[in-house]
Amino acid sequence: MSAPTLPVPPPPPVSSVARALRPVLARLRLLRSVWQRWFLWVLLAVLVLALLVTVVWLAGRHEVEQAQTLLERDTADAVSDLRGGLQRNAQTLRASSAGVMDHDAWLARAAGLLREHREWLRLEWRDSALQPLAALDTPYRRRVFEDDGRGAEQPDVVAACANARKLGTPAYSPSHYVPSPQGGGLEAMELCVPIEGGVLVATYALREMLTELVAPTLTRGQEVSFVEPDGTRLVAVGAPRRIGTRVFTAQQVIDLPGSEMLLRADGWRAVPDLFPNMLTALVTAISIALVSVLVLLARDTRARQRVEHDLADALAFRKAMEDSVITGLRARDLQGRITYVNPAFCEMVGLSAEELMRSDVDAPYWPTELAHEYQRRQAVRMAGALPPREGFESVFMHRDGSRFPVLIFEAPLINAQGSQTGWMSAFIDISEQRRIEELSRATQERLQASARLATVGEMASLLSHELTQPLAAIASYASGSLNLLGTDGPVARVDQAEVAMAVRRIAEQADRAGQVIRSVHDFVRRRDRTREAVAPQALVDAVLPLIELQARKLGVQVEVALEPDLPRLLCDRTLVEQLLLNLARNGMQAMDMPGLDERVLRLRVAPVAPAPDGNAAADARRWVEFSVADGGCGISAAVEERLFTPFFTTRADGMGLGLSLCRTVVEQHGGALGFERLVPRGTVFRFTLPAA
Ligand code: ADP
Repeated sequence: MSAPTLPVPPPPPVSSVARALRPVLARLRLLRSVWQRWFLWVLLAVLVLALLVTVVWLAGRHEVEQAQTLLERDTADAVSDLRGGLQRNAQTLRASSAGVMDHDAWLARAAGLLREHREWLRLEWRDSALQPLAALDTPYRRRVFEDDGRGAEQPDVVAACANARKLGTPAYSPSHYVPSPQGGGLEAMELCVPIEGGVLVATYALREMLTELVAPTLTRGQEVSFVEPDGTRLVAVGAPRRIGTRVFTAQQVIDLPGSEMLLRADGWRAVPDLFPNMLTALVTAISIALVSVLVLLARDTRARQRVEHDLADALAFRKAMEDSVITGLRARDLQGRITYVNPAFCEMVGLSAEELMRSDVDAPYWPTELAHEYQRRQAVRMAGALPPREGFESVFMHRDGSRFPVLIFEAPLINAQGSQTGWMSAFIDISEQRRIEELSRATQERLQASARLATVGEMASLLSHELTQPLAAIASYASGSLNLLGTDGPVARVDQAEVAMAVRRIAEQADRAGQVIRSVHDFVRRRDRTREAVAPQALVDAVLPLIELQARKLGVQVEVALEPDLPRLLCDRTLVEQLLLNLARNGMQAMDMPGLDERVLRLRVAPVAPAPDGNAAADARRWVEFSVADGGCGISAAVEERLFTPFFTTRADGMGLGLSLCRTVVEQHGGALGFERLVPRGTVFRFTLPAA
């Protein structure tokens, strides 16, 4: 029956250029994905950095603004304090002139005031023409003014009093420098308070004004100074500026009648101050955390990349391995659809991977006549039945329709989560193995036939010897009969009976000769190679005439012992007979040496007692043991080593095939062949055969 041929689709046209470009394109794609990933990371890092810098900068600016605002507020407060203080001082001065006033009384009052107000250098009482009436200097410092330098025409006093008269309120002179008689000098300012019949003039020391009238909280942290509108600094008090600090400046106009000055405060803070307050600290901490996370992420990505790389390597390795093995591999899902095949499998069945994976539940490599059985097998497998571990044999069909035997190993396909997702199968094409087995079987058979023929050759001489006896008997009976019959007269009645007896003897002898020849013929004739149930007795009976043939020649006595109730054996009769003959012949040949008192060959057949530790399989079958014992030369260690090697012999005319063939035959039947040394001499060979 010719196999159905499957339609062969033409291979898809793939231009050689496209094929050549494929690796280049794959490389480019890989490069692009790597580049994309790095670009995103760099972008993220830049953005985070920008955010960080902006936040820190904003926080710093906020802090600077806060410091500035605070300073301005403090300065404005200080100016209003100063104005208030000056106003109170002017009122105090005016109040001191109340009531009747003489020279001494004024001096006493002035002394009291000067003690209270350290900011005043001098108090003067002048008349309306500004002529001094009385004057007193502060007790807190050495005298600054010469009395004659403070006449009516003292320009600052004149200016202040002119203003005071014009406005009708206390007025001030612009600041002026008063050189000190002891060297150096100080900045001062005149206050003119108009009173009844004159004026009171108080001279302010600007430095003391700052220390006394401006709140000490302001002067402690920063430098506070009086500045003229043109920017000239008059006096300054407070802490000097530290190096590496940033200066904050705030100034306020002190608008006094007749005098204009600015109060200026210079504050400083360490810049850049990264942790000015909680906010910046918090922002910085978060930013540091963010950067740390970024670094960790980058590390993680690097580790991932390494793992990906390793994984790609492992995949490539696995693929190379799958592609290089000659074992076909196939994976199926739980519905029986093919999910994976390796190139070896595709080659085995002559179908492409796409065709195989496209195929339905019926696989295209199932021989049509067996598809039904395979479907059933697949259903059993999909139901979860475990296949035999040692694999099982099956037949697949190539795309060209040819069938070939395969050995299949199947195992459940378990995924990373430990659940079964299908079945994995490995296939070995065993056609070649089958061919070799067949070849070796044929060779073995030929070898056995040759061995048998060799045995026959050896027996030819025995045969001739054995046949001479009946032939001689036949000849003598024949000539005796002829004599009785005579040629020259009629045969007597008694003679007739004798002749009949002689002819019977002739027939008997001829039968005996025929038996001898038949037994040899039976042995040589190639019978069918089939196993059949044979009684052990029949096997022994078949070879016994041949054994005895040789035994007679060598003067050996043959003893046969068969135990009763032996089971029939399942065996190839011809081979087992040859086996028995071989062992018996070997035993007899071993005893073929001078000086032996008795030459006995013992052939025993007995059932094998089940071994106490025998496994269930062995016990299930019954076995029968054959043993052939001789009292011959025995087997030396050197001979034992090579005993079963083909063509090993110690005999000049031996072929050395006997024992190696014997072992093959026994093993083919599932039994075992071995030997033991006997005491005091000889060897026993034993082999087992299974009962039918
Ligand atoms: P062959 O009989 O042609 O020599 P065999 O394979 O039957 O080949 O035997 C190989 C050798 O094993 C023999 O030559 C002999 O030396 C030795 N041998 C076999 N059987 C016996 C035995 N019963 N006693 C002693 N030696 C034996």
